[in-house]
Amino acid sequence: METLESALSCLLDHAVPVAGRQSVALADALGRVAARDIASPIDVPPFDRSPLDGYALHSQDIAGASREEPAVLRVIGEACAGCGTRFHVARGEALRVMTGAPVPPECDCVIRQEDTDEGMEQVRMYAPVGSGKNICRAGEDVPCGACIVRKGERITSAHIGVLSSLGVTQVQVYARVRAALLCTGDELLEPGQALTYGKIYDANRAVLTARLAELGVQAHVLSSERDEAQHVADVLREAAKDADILITTGGVSVGKKDIFHAVLPAMGAQRLFWRVAIKPGTPMLCGLYEGKLIICLSGNPFAALACFELFAKPVLSHLGGCTDPVNVRAHAVLRGAFAKKSGGRRLIRARCEGGNVYMTGDNHSSGSLATMIGCNCLIDIPAGSGALSDGDQVEILLL
Ligand code: AMP
Ligand code: MG
Repeated sequence: METLESALSCLLDHAVPVAGRQSVALADALGRVAARDIASPIDVPPFDRSPLDGYALHSQDIAGASREEPAVLRVIGEACAGCGTRFHVARGEALRVMTGAPVPPECDCVIRQEDTDEGMEQVRMYAPVGSGKNICRAGEDVPCGACIVRKGERITSAHIGVLSSLGVTQVQVYARVRAALLCTGDELLEPGQALTYGKIYDANRAVLTARLAELGVQAHVLSSERDEAQHVADVLREAAKDADILITTGGVSVGKKDIFHAVLPAMGAQRLFWRVAIKPGTPMLCGLYEGKLIICLSGNPFAALACFELFAKPVLSHLGGCTDPVNVRAHAVLRGAFAKKSGGRRLIRARCEGGNVYMTGDNHSSGSLATMIGCNCLIDIPAGSGALSDGDQVEILLL
């Protein structure tokens, strides 16, 4: 049996990142993976500017200014944000500036208008200002040449904002990963169909489709199939033509209808491993078909989703060119108690807030999906642990 770590590294070793790259408009780059470094072609801001409403001047001219003995300067003009006029401010002069206006290079400070009489032709300054004060320097946010996005980094909304401030219009990204998703089980019905005795509505197909969309994966969601090995093998072989990875749920355990032990050979796929020493999702089965990974998850919805997060998500990131695909781990303090002993390694769903971690419900069964709602992490309980008590330090995997 594999460990979580050995199973994941086996999968990552076999996942060949997509080769395709494309140029997309900045607005379409959200969630995509950068295919090259992006350095700033300009300083941001592009010029020294005022961060407040006031007057730009020479600090020496107001060195001794006070309420009682104001310094009086001649106002040579007014510059607002966007003002393209180049002013020259001589000694004894001041330029009225509004927030965002350029500060002329000979001025070494800006005084806020609250420390003046706000005069239009002449202005009284009631306080001194240190040299260099109240000037936001060119390049202070991003200096020209600074790398803003690294190759292999996923582009976030903050990246998009910064790239826009650099004047960037197009971004080179890796092609989207194409994943085929197939859920299997004789018992599955689609919402909309009449619920008959013994049948259930399909949950995995919906939750994994939504999760693939959240991850920016181009999903080919197949209709769920009955537990017929040869037919499922044919469907997967066909789907593999246009997919970089195959993900399935159901039929990987030891029962009569656990067809995937027959599906892989029927496809001509190589089996990489079966079973991982974790709960939920122990019977996960993985293979390789024509160089493409096939990840077969247990049908139990929590098991399917947890193992998707633990294995498929990092693999999808790696396939998509991400250089840092592994889930983030952290430590937290357990709030509430978990009475069961854990003979084997166990993952339980929870919500982490401010260093504390709370279980999202009492139903820890791998068949329950409802307690995934509100869950933002999994508590990773090592094999051989006793019951957990309120206040225990635990390790979590952030989702
Ligand atoms: P299996 O992995 O096929 O043995 O299924 C394990 C359990 O998960 C059974 O109770 C199935 O009915 C249930 N199950 C399998 N597939 C799904 C699905 N797509 N949606 C909801 N439950 C499922
Ligand atoms: Mg089944």
